[in-house]
Amino acid sequence: MLYHDLVKVYQALESTTSRLEMADILADLFRSTDCAHIRKIVYMTQGTIVPDFYPEKLGMADKLYIRTLLAATGANEESVRKLWAQEGDLGTITEKVYENKRQTTLFSEPLTLDRVYDALLKVARSEGSGSQEYKTRYLADILHDAKPAEARYIARIVTGRMRLGVASQTVIDSLAQAFATKQDKAAVERAFNITSDLGLVGETLCQKGIAGLEEMHVRVGNPIRAMLAERLPSPEEILDRMGGQAMFEYKYDGLRVQAHIQDGKVTLYSRRLEDLTSQFPDVVKALKEAFTCSSAIIEGECVPVDINTGELLPFQEVSHRRGRKHGLTEAIEDYPVRIHLFDCLYLDGADMTDEPLPDRRTALTRCVKITEDVRFSEARVLDDPAKVQEFFIEALNAGCEGLMAKSLGDGSVYRAGSRGFLWIKYKKEYRSEMNDTVDLVAVGAFHGRGRRGGMYGALLMATYNEEEDRFETVSKLGSGFDDATLALLPERLDRYRLHDRHPLVESKMEADVWFEPALVLEVLGAEISLSPIHTCAHGRIRDGAGLAIRFPRFTGTFRDDKRPRDATTSQELYDMYNAQMKKVEG
Ligand code: AMP
Repeated sequence: MLYHDLVKVYQALESTTSRLEMADILADLFRSTDCAHIRKIVYMTQGTIVPDFYPEKLGMADKLYIRTLLAATGANEESVRKLWAQEGDLGTITEKVYENKRQTTLFSEPLTLDRVYDALLKVARSEGSGSQEYKTRYLADILHDAKPAEARYIARIVTGRMRLGVASQTVIDSLAQAFATKQDKAAVERAFNITSDLGLVGETLCQKGIAGLEEMHVRVGNPIRAMLAERLPSPEEILDRMGGQAMFEYKYDGLRVQAHIQDGKVTLYSRRLEDLTSQFPDVVKALKEAFTCSSAIIEGECVPVDINTGELLPFQEVSHRRGRKHGLTEAIEDYPVRIHLFDCLYLDGADMTDEPLPDRRTALTRCVKITEDVRFSEARVLDDPAKVQEFFIEALNAGCEGLMAKSLGDGSVYRAGSRGFLWIKYKKEYRSEMNDTVDLVAVGAFHGRGRRGGMYGALLMATYNEEEDRFETVSKLGSGFDDATLALLPERLDRYRLHDRHPLVESKMEADVWFEPALVLEVLGAEISLSPIHTCAHGRIRDGAGLAIRFPRFTGTFRDDKRPRDATTSQELYDMYNAQMKKVEG
């Protein structure tokens, strides 16, 4: 197949914005194409050369592309730069450059689809030192033989900006149209949802028809598109929708991970189907140790843990890892993560996606033994709204976003790639954002772990309750200390050290070391939430709960100008919580 034939289709696609027309154009193309070319066409039309979960990525830097264009065409650098400033779009610039040079090319061979595809694959695969030179060479080879319109699309795809506006759904429609009937669309969708590879689906359809798709199963190595949840505002509505009973799980605030395990090899995929394996070697290792079967696909949420306070940290801490090649070891040490598993989609040869949730959960417990870093999601089967609300508060206190309710009925299958009411999230806000710093009193401390071994790892902080003249705990503070400050903490604090809790300190937590309330630190938190373990304003907003400052960070300022009774009061924190909540509700 000539690349030119594909380019004509691209031009037709660009001349319409109608999805139906786009599907017709693509269906015509697929019908008239050899099955051996379908895969490549499907990928390239979507601006890629492989499925998203493969490592090869296009996206050559603009500057490198322009350098290659200049070398391949002998165009005048000055005029190309001017054009670039005017047009912005590299495809258009390239086409213009080619139109000007048309007459001068003497020897050129027509480009085939295979040749363009192979060159793009080589460009994507060139990595490491000297890769720029290779990328340039492979690209220049096809640019040399390109016609203006062809060069336009080569420029766009190689720089990662194909932008034909062809969504996966349009390709699915067109494949069903070309090789089956409209009614078969669901089968095409299912095949895509369980393999995440539309090229493979297209090729299979072309070769074997719809029967070929029915033979396709979940397989290790192809990420399954994630099942997603709907949202409802109250436990009553959730239970109604679920037929009176459901499994409620903590909704962790982390990074969703799908782990594919076979013969001791673990591959991790994100919700967007990127390969995360190299960013989480610790999770890979932990899963290998916890896994007891031979092959499986399991899902869970990776959550960072503060080893010094034992609290789950906000998801941003995990994102320190992403895209990071250097300093990964430090990132792993500073932000260790734990995975909470919640589903099993494949186990030892059996596709579990069509099995009801209780069976999938049983499969999960069969193939994993719990360790420090590998746990199951905290789950409870409930049918009483009041119990759900209780569990919800417990989840918030544990640092979660809320709850996930999951249907337990016969039809509670894993709906890959779709959002529905088999899973319902419950995320009502019971926390309010903090914009201002507070001044808190150190009343206790916890021994450090990991890199903080032998030092204080975290401090127990309190507000001052003026009416009762006592100090009420509000937070465990472990972040924001640089190494020097940490090392000096004992010097600052040990003179206030006590054998037992100070009588004016109200605490439900057992600190390793207690202090006389004296040292005041300035702290910035992310939010104020309800918590059963802290005593600040206890019982004033909800029975059995006090206020807590979540994700507190020392600003670096010791408020030596303040005496402990000048610290932020419990009433002030209570007012801050209410003021923010009103904004959220209003
Ligand atoms: P949302 O992103 O708000 O639509 O919520 C769905 C996300 O919640 C999923 O993609 C998971 O990353 C995450 N999640 C956290 N805990 C769970 C759980 N127990 N079950 C399913 N998903 C969970």
